[in-house]
Formats: sequence, C-alpha cells, structure tokens
Amino acid sequence: MTAAPTTAGWLDPFLADWRPGTGEPREIREPATGRPLITVPQGTPGDVARAAAAAAAAQPAWAATSYVERAAVLRRAAEIYEAHRAELGTWTQRETGAVHGKMHHEQNFTVAELLNAATLPSQPYGELVPSVVAGRLSMVRRVPVGVVGAITPWNSPSVLGMRVVAPALALGNAVVLKPDPQTPVAGGALFEAVFREAGLPEGLLAVVVGGAEVGEAIVTDPNVHVVSFTGSTAAGRRVGELAGRLLKKVSLELGGNNAFVVLDDADVEAAASAGAYASFQFQGQVCFAAGRHIVHRSVAKDYVEALVERAKRLRLGDPYREAVDLGPIVNEKQLARVDGIVRRSVEGGARLAEGGTHEGLFYRPTVLVDVTTGLPAWTDEIFGPVAPVVTFETDEEALALANDSEYGLAGAVYSRSISRGLALAQRIRSGMVHVNDQTVNDEAVIPFGGMGASGNGSRFGGAANWDEFTQWQWVTVRDDPRTFPHPY
Ligand code: NAD
Repeated sequence: MTAAPTTAGWLDPFLADWRPGTGEPREIREPATGRPLITVPQGTPGDVARAAAAAAAAQPAWAATSYVERAAVLRRAAEIYEAHRAELGTWTQRETGAVHGKMHHEQNFTVAELLNAATLPSQPYGELVPSVVAGRLSMVRRVPVGVVGAITPWNSPSVLGMRVVAPALALGNAVVLKPDPQTPVAGGALFEAVFREAGLPEGLLAVVVGGAEVGEAIVTDPNVHVVSFTGSTAAGRRVGELAGRLLKKVSLELGGNNAFVVLDDADVEAAASAGAYASFQFQGQVCFAAGRHIVHRSVAKDYVEALVERAKRLRLGDPYREAVDLGPIVNEKQLARVDGIVRRSVEGGARLAEGGTHEGLFYRPTVLVDVTTGLPAWTDEIFGPVAPVVTFETDEEALALANDSEYGLAGAVYSRSISRGLALAQRIRSGMVHVNDQTVNDEAVIPFGGMGASGNGSRFGGAANWDEFTQWQWVTVRDDPRTFPHPY
C-alpha cells in the first residue's frame, strides 16, 4: 500500500505494511484537490470469511478476560488516539473534506466513545430474579453477542466506527469493521493501529475495506452474529433484507430529513445562526442536518434574510490547507445529486434566495424559499448545504409539516416559550429532538438513533450499548436435583 506524504509520524510505518485485503488496489483522492492520497488493496468476500473466522476464534478468550483488562485496553486506546490526534485528524480532513472544527469535534467524540466504553466492563451485567420454584437461584445475565459486523459511512468515519467498535469490544465481542472505501484510513486503518498499540489481542478487530459486495459478505457470513450498519436508507433496506432471511440481529442507523421549526416568538437571529449551522456545516453531509426549515409566516422574512446573510459569508476552499468554513462535496456523484434536487425543486416552483451554484465540488450554501411539500427539496434527504424553507400559521400546522416525512432522526424547535416549544417538540416523530438548539447534537451517553425510515429502532450509546452488543441468558441453579411427579 502506498501513501502520499502527510505530516510524518506514527501511522506511516503501519500504513506502509497495511494489507487490508487481497483484492484490486484502489486509489483514493482528496475531494478538495483531486490529488492522490493513498492506494489501498480492497477486500474480497474471502477476506471477510477469514477475518470473521479469526474473530470468532479469538472472541471467547476475550470475553473471559477480566473486566479490568478490557477496560484498560480501551483507556490505552483513548490515550494513544489523543497522543496522535493531530496526525490522525489530517486523514479525516483529507479523506472527507472536513474543516478543522468539524474534525476536532469528531475527534473529541471518538475519544469520548472510547472512555465511555471503558466504563462498561465494570458495570453489573445481570440481575437476580425471583422464581416460582422453591430453592431455585434464578439469574439473568448479559453475554456478548460474539462477532459484530460493523459497516460505516464516509461522512464521520472515526466516530461512526468507534461508536460500534469501542462498546462492542468492551462488552467482550470481536469486530469485523468495513469502512467506506473513500475513508480507508480515518474509518479503518487508524482503528487497527490504535488498538494494536493498546494491546488488544490478535484477531479481535479486523478491518476489511470495500464496497457493497464486501458489506454483504459481512452481513451473510455465518461467523458474524450481529450487524451494525450506518448509512443510507437504500443500502440499509438491502442489509435488513439479507439479515432478516438469516434471522440475524441488525442495527440500522440510516438517513434523515430533519425538521427545524421556528415559532413566531423565537429569537430569530439565534434561530438563523443555528439553522445555518445545522444545514451548511460540513457541506450538509450530516445525517441529522436540518433538511427542512419550518418557519412561522410572521418571522419568515427576517429569518430568510438572516440565513442568506450567513450563507453569503461562508468561505469555501481546501479545508486542510486554507482557513475556510466549508470544504468540498465528497464526490461528483453526490454533487450531481445535490444539484439535481435543487434544480428540480426550482423547476417545480421553489425560488433560490441564495446559492444554487458550484465550482468543481465546491457547492455554495443555498437557501430555497417558496418550497412546497411535493418538491424533492422537501421529500428527499439532500445531503448537501441546502436550506429549504416553508412557512406555517399555527403550531398544529408546524407539527404536521415536521412529521410530513418518512424519516424520523432528529428535530428542533426554536421558541422563547419553553413550555410551548417543549409541547411541540415532544410530538415530533423523531428519535432525538431539541428545544432552542439545532439538530446536529450527540453525546456518547445518550441512545442515538431514529424512527421510521431513519432506522429499525436500534440505538447507539448509553444504556443502548448493552442492548446492541449483548444478549440475555437466563441461568438457574438448585442445590437439590429436581425430580417430577409420576409418570415422569
Ligand atoms: P451508503 O449507504 O452508500 O454507504 C454506507 C456504508 O454501507 C458504506 O460502507 C458502503 O460501502 C456500505 N454499503 C453500501 N451498500 C451496501 C450493501 N448493499 N450491503 C452492505 N454494505 C453496503 O451511505 P453513504 O452515502 O456513504 O453515507 C451517507 C448516508 O448515511 C446518508 O443517508 C446519511 O444520512 C447516513 N448516515 C446515517 C447516520 C445515522 O447515525 N443515522 C450517520 C451518518 C450517516
């Protein structure tokens, strides 16, 4: 594998020897410059089979390792990641086109996932329960699921991988991780390098880089017991179908088209600042970005003006080499998708208040007004820096608009009245909702996830980690061997 020079350092010798697959090499280019970044041999279904078999073989001994040792590996991994975060961050920036602020946020989060996971091994893992059978000791305990297959997208590769890898390992599982082929290092190699140095025993974490074929091989491999998928709703449906036939447990964390509601009593400047951040930061390539701005008619003019002002002043450029606010769209295909949704919406009657243009992969932050609910800018997840605005008259109308989506990942309501904002927020059908804050919010200790087409009810983080990465076992014990009445 060959890597273009980055800040010389710790990861380079690892990358020089890294052979994550036996398939054809694939060259990865920086979206911001088009320059070659790294060439990585892709994985094959055979590589998945070998990695999963090794993981299954290594897992029982790891599950039997003391809680102190498992926690220590996770804490060491956090220390190693922190020690090399400047270097590791350059890979995130260059593979994904993220600005410094987004990269740092993701890194803080990645470390938080590790440290939070380090607390899991020492937590109680079961309960004593009453029994109708006299003299029976009855307990329910959580046991590891075995091998977790983790499939992750490119957009926040380190944290979306770590929110699976860290808790799964902490709770005694092994992991086969498949990052998106566009982010082989930030989503894959750095995990192997960090955990190897942290002393994780051989076989427990394997990275196989590749696309849908490799992902499907992970889903169907008999040695993979649980699949944790984060990505688009279309690919999630396919993963769910494959796993369903095999009766395999699967977590699906999918797309979003998130409602950002501004009531007539909101602080409009604050709402516009939050709305701009939630739609434009990281070029809108965020699952819980604000996809639909639902604004009271009486404040809509001021709100749109404030949003446009912010859109105009955002600077676009190479986020690794320049001080900019936004980087490129990740690739041509995604650019065409964003552009197509905006164009078709304008043809359908929406009006461009700002943006709608691009130079290469750099798409100007865009504000669309006069949007109606049949237009693609309303119905589709755009995954680009576009803020479609619709207006309403009553809170009930706002609620109906907010819930007018097959997705249900995140929502937000801006209002000076906490009780009014909360009353509305709690009726938005989404896995996460915020009053006087925007939709792009996460913490390692909360159960992250969505409703409807945003997932299948699974969650990441906090208590949900136990549900995702362990399964219940009922165990009973009696002193006196039990017998049964005649004729038994
Ligand atoms: P994607 O679905 O194209 O790819 C995601 C991952 O799935 C990649 O690793 C890809 O190689 C793999 N994959 C694709 N087809 C597959 C198949 N048939 N079987 C198995 N694996 C397959 O998604 P993307 O375009 O890379 O990412 C953007 C999408 O991810 C958006 O829809 C976004 O909302 C969503 N997302 C959701 C969350 C969340 O937590 N809900 C977080 C980040 C991104």
